[in-house]
Amino acid sequence: MADYFVHESSYIDEDVTIGSGTKIWHFSHVQKGSQIGENCSLGQNVNVSNNVKIGNGVKIQNNVSVYEGVVLEDYVFCGPSCVFTNDLTPRSKYPKGSVGYKKTLIKYGASIGANATIVCGHTVGRWAMIASGAVVTKDVPDYALMAGVPARQVGWVCECGMPLKDGLKCKVCGREYVLMDGKLEEK
Ligand SMILES: [Zn+2]
Repeated sequence: MADYFVHESSYIDEDVTIGSGTKIWHFSHVQKGSQIGENCSLGQNVNVSNNVKIGNGVKIQNNVSVYEGVVLEDYVFCGPSCVFTNDLTPRSKYPKGSVGYKKTLIKYGASIGANATIVCGHTVGRWAMIASGAVVTKDVPDYALMAGVPARQVGWVCECGMPLKDGLKCKVCGREYVLMDGKLEEK
């Protein structure tokens, strides 16, 4: 049996996989068919919907719903009360069902700020940083710093999280990057 923690106030449905070292705190609900990796942390009032896949080392702060169609790769950070969606044109009278859901992919190491919204059908690149309250309405490049409504790229961020302000060498950790055809890559 995997060595993970679930607070007694939370519900884990059947057919769920949870990795070792993962902690699921108060008043959360992990729904059927979902997979959560190792060493994750799910805060208070987190909902993981049916068939959602979450990688290793993912941190989800309080009040986040990860809806069906969303994939969180390893080391993704979801800030408090950030919002995912899975239907661009919802109608109560004409429900699409799960086959109509649009996919959202949050890639390795990316961070989503508090109260930011990721509109469905988009990919957030590796190590990208979404500012608090931003509304993402298009694909986000790797290492991009996105802010505003709708979110626009306002810079680049290092893998360590520091914005790359003057040049492409991080003043905190020393990592260096190169820009090739509009894409940032580590040197
Ligand atoms: Zn750095």
